[in-house]
Amino acid sequence: MYYIGVDIGGTTIKSGIVDRAGNIVLKSAITTEKIPPKQQMEKVGEQIIKLLQSSNLSFDDVLGIGVGCPGAINGKKGIVGYSSNLKWTNFHLKDVLERVTGKTVRVANDADAATLGEVIFGVAKDYKTVIMLTLGTGVGGGIVIDKKLYEGTNGMVAELGHIVLRANGLPCGCGRKGCFEQYASATALVRITKEYMLKNKDSSMWNAVDFNLDKVDGKTAFVCEKQGDKTAKRVIAKYISYLSEGCLDYCNIFRPDAIVFGGGISKEGANLTDRVVGYLEKYEYGYKGTPKPAILTAKLQNDAGIIGAASLVAEEF
Ligand SMILES: [Zn+2]
Repeated sequence: MYYIGVDIGGTTIKSGIVDRAGNIVLKSAITTEKIPPKQQMEKVGEQIIKLLQSSNLSFDDVLGIGVGCPGAINGKKGIVGYSSNLKWTNFHLKDVLERVTGKTVRVANDADAATLGEVIFGVAKDYKTVIMLTLGTGVGGGIVIDKKLYEGTNGMVAELGHIVLRANGLPCGCGRKGCFEQYASATALVRITKEYMLKNKDSSMWNAVDFNLDKVDGKTAFVCEKQGDKTAKRVIAKYISYLSEGCLDYCNIFRPDAIVFGGGISKEGANLTDRVVGYLEKYEYGYKGTPKPAILTAKLQNDAGIIGAASLVAEEF
């Protein structure tokens, strides 16, 4: 038996057949069109039928269909409440796709689905309560408690990037000031790197970016630090302290078995996690006697969307 995972994005919709071990058997992508969502999901239905035909499978071989979608999702009802990426409002996605395919459909926010994917099929397989932080343009994430995705009220959960790290700190897109996202995202690391470079004209980071600040990215400080640049070392220390302070808060609230980092910055692997572990140990993981969570980096990477969506079905069966 197999799962179907559908990853809806602003530009493409990827669908895949996933086996019970979490491997993608076959996948395809179609363009996200500016058409009513009902018509779009009918096209996804056709996409799934083609995938099954190409694999000599039928709907009888499928346990169910999981869909990861950006925005606020009511998982229980399978409704996309609002998605700014897709411009979909109050769309009954589950009803439409179930009618087209005849299979059970489960819908969740894409970041939540990716988190569940890491817990069921990825790096956090051996852990039950897991917090995932996606360190990219912003900070996204998801919460899994006792192997179940925490979906909150109407799917409006896991805005983990918008806890306040610095009262009256930097303004955030959400309307508040000092959000974690403003200090721990890849965007924040780039900003910190530039700030330190401007104060330290002798840093080798200037050479690394051809003396052009626009070329600074999330890797600049990590790369130059390895080459012994002192300013880069201070940038990374600052960034790690911000990221770790947020993690200490999540440790105190959830007492997770594991924290998983995803997104661009997570590609640093042990170079990132070892330092966060060092910081968290200094503060005893938020509270004396706290059990130590594993600090990990995401494994599913490019296929996280499809496998995460498939894990929504795997959680049920
Ligand atoms: Zn915010």
